[in-house]
Amino acid sequence: MTKKEQLSRAPRVKKEMPKKKRGLRTTKSRTSRTNKKKATQKRKPILMPLTKLDNLVWKITSLAFRLQDSDRQGFVKCCTCGNKMYYYKSDAQLGHFKSRSAKWTKFLRKNLSTQDTKCNKYGAGEQFKFGKFLDRTYGAGTAEAMMTYANKPEKFGRYEYKKHLLENSRILLDEAKSRRLYDWKSGMAKWELDFLEKLDDYNIDEEIIIHKQRV
Ligand SMILES: [Zn+2]
Repeated sequence: MTKKEQLSRAPRVKKEMPKKKRGLRTTKSRTSRTNKKKATQKRKPILMPLTKLDNLVWKITSLAFRLQDSDRQGFVKCCTCGNKMYYYKSDAQLGHFKSRSAKWTKFLRKNLSTQDTKCNKYGAGEQFKFGKFLDRTYGAGTAEAMMTYANKPEKFGRYEYKKHLLENSRILLDEAKSRRLYDWKSGMAKWELDFLEKLDDYNIDEEIIIHKQRV
């Protein structure tokens, strides 16, 4: 073997060794991880992370109540300035009277109404006008009741999320059906639409699995 050959062979051997080792180790550990994962999934699906659940309930609530606030053609007035707009994909937003950081009132019909961006975003929700609107619509004292309800000391947990999810999903489907307005479906993921399609199969007192996760 010439010196040149020795030099060119030596690094090749060195290179092959760790490559094989790495390959073996990776394959083995990946397989065992997958098996473990499969076994866990068979036993019980994982819990849906609360942020994902919160986003899902909000997405459905926002569509359901904007649709409910709108007329037969899907046009809705901002509750704090009267500006008229289309409920979907214009500047229509579902605004909160008591801010969205309070969970007990975050998805509650009487704390929510459609607003335009001017009032909801740039007007920081126009809370004073919003409160007047609530009292006019649902009766005197509603705004105050919302403030009290928002501060409930009990924990807002998965049961409460589940309750709002099922109730507001039902509203979304009923309001969409009565107006024959389904353009909102284009903004939904397949798993979200699958859930809505099977809504009648779900029960508040039973385990709910969405997107292969427990709610
Ligand atoms: Zn407005």
